[in-house]
Amino acid sequence: MNQVLVLNSGSSSIKYQLIDMDDRTRLAVGIIERIGEASGSVADHAAGMEVVLAELEGKLDRAQLAAVGHRVVHGGDRFRGPTLVDDEVCDTISKLIPLAPLHNPANLTLIEAARAAFPDTPQVAVFDTAFHQTLPEHAYTYAVPQSWREDLGVRRYGFHGTSHQYVSRRAAAMLGRRPEEVNMIVLHLGNGASVCAIREGKSIDTSMGMTPLEGLIMGTRSGDLDPAVSAYIARQTGRTAEEIDLTLNKESGLLALAGSNDLRDIDAAAAKGNEPARLALDAYCYRIRKYIGAYLAALGRVDALAFTAGVGENSATVRAGALAGLDHLGIAVSPKRNAQHSKEERYISPYWAETAVLVVPTDEEIEIADQALEVLGRAG
Ligand code: ADP
Repeated sequence: MNQVLVLNSGSSSIKYQLIDMDDRTRLAVGIIERIGEASGSVADHAAGMEVVLAELEGKLDRAQLAAVGHRVVHGGDRFRGPTLVDDEVCDTISKLIPLAPLHNPANLTLIEAARAAFPDTPQVAVFDTAFHQTLPEHAYTYAVPQSWREDLGVRRYGFHGTSHQYVSRRAAAMLGRRPEEVNMIVLHLGNGASVCAIREGKSIDTSMGMTPLEGLIMGTRSGDLDPAVSAYIARQTGRTAEEIDLTLNKESGLLALAGSNDLRDIDAAAAKGNEPARLALDAYCYRIRKYIGAYLAALGRVDALAFTAGVGENSATVRAGALAGLDHLGIAVSPKRNAQHSKEERYISPYWAETAVLVVPTDEEIEIADQALEVLGRAG
């Protein structure tokens, strides 16, 4: 009995993987999309879970299932690691809904549905925020009134923790060292994107904040912005806070600058001389470079930089653009190594560079499955 079902629900999707942890093979992989949208056929996450169970019929043997691992987006400051689910844990996740109004309800629905479907199987919640609970106070504190901080939970939490943790462990292994021996910067560049400064295996700063909106320019999120912009737009246009939040999360970023949130389109358009695409690419890479500079200062010594997720694993243009002009700090990409397409973990820095620059394909599902078994005291 060594299989884990991993459930990863977004606000309008459910991804699932059934993994045999003995040989780490995927026995089933699927995604249900457009949940609750007019163009989709699945009304809500509960109905989505029914579809998942139907798709797993014949593939999943309950007697082999050791755990169900759930990705949960927001653990606030309540969860520092993977957690065995019980009623109290569900209650706490529910209390955190105001911090993640689109994601935590979906995650909870799936947990409840999985508990009902597999009453004899342990359920483990793995939080996107947990890895960043090691941030020092000076890094997670926003300079806002005490009542906002203490009564309303306004602080930096950070996200993509499972990915940052997985990639940092793999990167340490590539360097032939233990995670506790390595300082590094992990760049998770997907549709959502964040940077993480890791000292001796622990997250000490990260670019996403109380919500995933802060930090890098993303597919559809603005990233860093003068906080006064929201009030200004509200005054000038009469938009509500809700509408402005939606615009900054869903209609900004690369999409707003270049008309597409897919780096492949933007790369191709920029190469043909399309001006908005060039600006989008320049701004995107510059923002990453600024964070690298900040985290070099925060960390002091950096052994490695690791690129991951859709853009980080695939876009040679972004990797080169993000590191442009950092040669004097011992950070660079080898044009030849950077240009090579591969699905493997690899070095892309030149021989002379002091800091290793790596590409590490992320695997949040295997990390969730590993952490689920870890909680149960079983090795994966
Ligand atoms: P998510 O954050 O939704 O999990 P991914 O990590 O899969 O997303 O990243 C998706 C993004 O990766 C796409 O929107 C696209 O911009 C980018 N991407 C995927 N493949 C390539 C590629 N070959 N070149 C450049 N960008 C790519």
